[in-house]
Amino acid sequence: MYTSFFDVFSIGIGPSSSHTMGPMRAAARFVQLLRERSLLSRVARLHVHLYGSLALTGYGHGTLSAVAYGLMGLDAETMEKPPPISETLLLGKEQAIPFRIADDIIAEEKQSLPEHPNGLRFCASDAQGALICEQVYFSVGGGAVKSREEMHLAENDHVSPAGLWEFHSCHELMDICAREHVSIAQLTRHNEATLRSAPELSARIRLVAKVMNSAIDRGIATPGTLPGTLHMQRRAPQIYARLEDRFHRNETDALTIIDWINLWAFAVAEENASGGRVVTAPTMGSAGVLPAVLRYYERYGCKDSPYSAEKGTEILLLTASAVCSLYRANASISGAEVGCQGEVGVACSMAAAGLVAAMGGSNQQVENAAEIAMEHNLGLTCDPVCGLVQVPCIERNAIGAVKAVNAARLAMRGNGSHFVSLDSVIATMYETGRHLHPNYRETSLAGLAKNVPAC
Ligand code: SF4
Repeated sequence: MYTSFFDVFSIGIGPSSSHTMGPMRAAARFVQLLRERSLLSRVARLHVHLYGSLALTGYGHGTLSAVAYGLMGLDAETMEKPPPISETLLLGKEQAIPFRIADDIIAEEKQSLPEHPNGLRFCASDAQGALICEQVYFSVGGGAVKSREEMHLAENDHVSPAGLWEFHSCHELMDICAREHVSIAQLTRHNEATLRSAPELSARIRLVAKVMNSAIDRGIATPGTLPGTLHMQRRAPQIYARLEDRFHRNETDALTIIDWINLWAFAVAEENASGGRVVTAPTMGSAGVLPAVLRYYERYGCKDSPYSAEKGTEILLLTASAVCSLYRANASISGAEVGCQGEVGVACSMAAAGLVAAMGGSNQQVENAAEIAMEHNLGLTCDPVCGLVQVPCIERNAIGAVKAVNAARLAMRGNGSHFVSLDSVIATMYETGRHLHPNYRETSLAGLAKNVPAC
């Protein structure tokens, strides 16, 4: 199933798309359901149950306040500054109810729902205590939410818009590109045209690039400590100061570009960890990889590219979007489902593919780059220390961004022919993720989360 550019790149407040943005959207959907059923004014109490990974790492990932914001009718994309949460909640901006997040959001730490590890159950009752509405949702990655009914919909129940060039695998994607004589970016543009107008898409591309770049600039300019029990210092401002200092002293270092890429990824990942505005690419935990590679392209890559910085940026993002669509259709971008392969691994794959396309590489080289980038992220676990999107997440974004540039360079040195197909590596990533012990899938029960004595 095709995932639109608009769904791949969501804009919102960090630190986690599956644990912050998704739950916020699920809560907003429940309020909408109450409204549609004319039940909103009858709600006197509301309880929310969190299951699986949401229950285990929700505290560190900001899930509880995100649920409250969603119930208040706030939108993840437009919310500027998180409002204070009192013990009276204005449900859907209309109905005042008593709501204490510590008591009314219940983390069911020992239970997981069968459909997906990120489950939420909303239960609304009236003044007499009778249950008037109940719904289960799942936060399936990248901020996307599905109801229990939607989880059970078969692939063939989905109706594609007329004219869409539907692809289910990279093999099919490449066949369409060859048949229509288009690049992957042009294919994405064509598909988006079946959903919305060309100016709307162009405006969205510009907005996505702008939010990514703003997150880099804010991250570089903001010193201090990250929220949470780790009391981690933000490192981007120090890295930047050191780079500037070296520049003014005329010190040369052949690997300075790596320092810059690290800096840009750190800046965004630290913004995300502080609840700043970022773009899911494909998730918030991995939101630093693509902006770092985009800035690398604008600063260094486009000098050797056939495109202007603006055109290359468009191509990079449109290509990355198509690659993400493949992962969403055939695997997962949820750390709770497949570990960090699905987050930083997919981000690395998207960024490598996008960079090759922006550098003027062929569709085959784009596939090669996406494949190399994921092949060397296979088995990457998710084990955030103290359930915070900080360790190993922030450094991992930097490593993922540098790896993406390297994968792109490897692909550009070849002619596009390669031994492992992107389809094979996506299937392997999904299989590996399903075989990972659940403790290594965003539960903070093992790995670094267990062996680093921090919490
Ligand atoms: S380890 Fe990776 S998947 Fe897990 S929270 Fe951090 S960035 Fe997300």
